Amino acid sequence: MKIAINKAHFPVTVLGPGKRIGIWVQGCSIRCKGCVSQDTWARDPGREMTVARLLSWCREVAAEGFDGVTISGGEPFDQPKALAALLDALAHWRTQAGLDFDILCYSGYPLATLEKRHAAILGRLDALIPEPYADALPLSHLWRGSANQRLVTLSPRGAARYAEFIDAAPDALGKRIQTSVEAGRVWQIGIPARGEMAAFEERCAEQGVHFEQVSWRQ
Ligand code: SF4
Repeated sequence: MKIAINKAHFPVTVLGPGKRIGIWVQGCSIRCKGCVSQDTWARDPGREMTVARLLSWCREVAAEGFDGVTISGGEPFDQPKALAALLDALAHWRTQAGLDFDILCYSGYPLATLEKRHAAILGRLDALIPEPYADALPLSHLWRGSANQRLVTLSPRGAARYAEFIDAAPDALGKRIQTSVEAGRVWQIGIPARGEMAAFEERCAEQGVHFEQVSWRQ
């Protein structure tokens, strides 16, 4: 089974509790106004890799220990079969290696739609942050981009680990954004406040750093 991936990174510390593997899928049909990840929108078979290869990368980078996996995008549920295969592979790894990591997934689809169409996938997750990004609503909660987005726990592990964060403020854990520079690209990982990316671009320009392309506009 193949899955289209925009990027993967370890460690991610701003999208879920602890030190995490971050996986961003490629392709999103929802296209929320104000999305800061517009580079993930296009479907791109050139970015496909096998779930087996992705899992082997996860095992390698996180060999020294980690707390969870965060799957974002892009829209993970636009590739339901691949997402299910990835979740099965992660669950198999967790059981076989005696690990206790949690799996958090983002989606721009409403919770009711996911429950109706993808109940079996939800059953493989520990926590979910659903609903489209709403540019007109404020950044009000930890790990979420707009006030309509809830943090939903889906397993006993998810409830134990996430309950304390359901109503947490955006800056409850201090750092909201982490930066990574890889292969000439700057990744701003996390949940930016309104206008934060444009301000970052401006500050870089003042220092003589100009970006050829940015993900928050097309
Ligand atoms: S915020 Fe998420 S669901 Fe909305 S357009 Fe961007 S990637 Fe897609």
